Amino acid sequence: AEDALRQAQKMEAVGQLTGGIAHDFNNVLQIISGNLHLLHHLSGNDGVMRQRLDTAIAAVERGAKLSSHLLAFARRQPLQPVVADLSRVVRNMDALLRRALGEAIDIVLVGGAGLWNTLVDRGQIENVILNLAINARDAMDGVGKLTIELGNVVLDEQYVHNLDVPAGQYVMLSVTDTGKGMSGSVLQRAFEPFFTTKPEGAGTGLGLSMAYGFVTQSRGHIRIYSEPGHGTGVKIYLPRTLMAEAADEVELSGVVTGGT
Ligand code: ADP
Repeated sequence: AEDALRQAQKMEAVGQLTGGIAHDFNNVLQIISGNLHLLHHLSGNDGVMRQRLDTAIAAVERGAKLSSHLLAFARRQPLQPVVADLSRVVRNMDALLRRALGEAIDIVLVGGAGLWNTLVDRGQIENVILNLAINARDAMDGVGKLTIELGNVVLDEQYVHNLDVPAGQYVMLSVTDTGKGMSGSVLQRAFEPFFTTKPEGAGTGLGLSMAYGFVTQSRGHIRIYSEPGHGTGVKIYLPRTLMAEAADEVELSGVVTGGT
């Protein structure tokens, strides 16, 4: 519990700091970018000059992408929770996930029938799932199996002992890969904002910390199981809601449930 508190405080501090600079930083980049494009335009047939400018423009674009990630992280938009059936959310992401993972990764969906409803921000949970899938892809070097499992679970007093969630009914969503896994020291720092083991430009180190922020804000619990050489599983528990999905949500997803 102390670790969780320290983590929350760290996220808060980083969030504030980031919000302050990311915005100004982005303005600076806009000025650089505008001038680089102008120079590019003026450089005519000077190949060497154009090549240098292309490199500089690419670097500025990388910087702009990073700063927009930072802004999204710092802003921590207020959640807009709706009643949702996560199995439907996941099924709707099927095409997107397949595209993101490539052909050499099998995607297996386990469970989900009769799943309890949960109150979540749809856009955010989709983001989290996509981020977890991309982490899995990177850990598998493009080849392997991604399993998404859904289920109804009851967390008892013993399980939640030392956690910051109450015992009760939860919807469990796990994303498991057959990738390289995490060493103990990576596992320990994985939720830290900006912690990444990926090469420069490839990772922001914000994926798991955003997942952590989203899940705790949604009064849920998230944990990572990982073994080097065997793969990684990220388990998310979100509290059950007894409310029913809005009719338009059901319609929107294009799935006919037979009216329960
Ligand atoms: P990023 O993906 O940008 O590095 P994350 O916060 O999502 O940022 O992840 C932090 C680090 O945790 C990654 O750099 C990687 O070392 C490790 N990690 C995350 N997901 C996995 C996974 N599925 N398998 C192995 N390592 C992982």
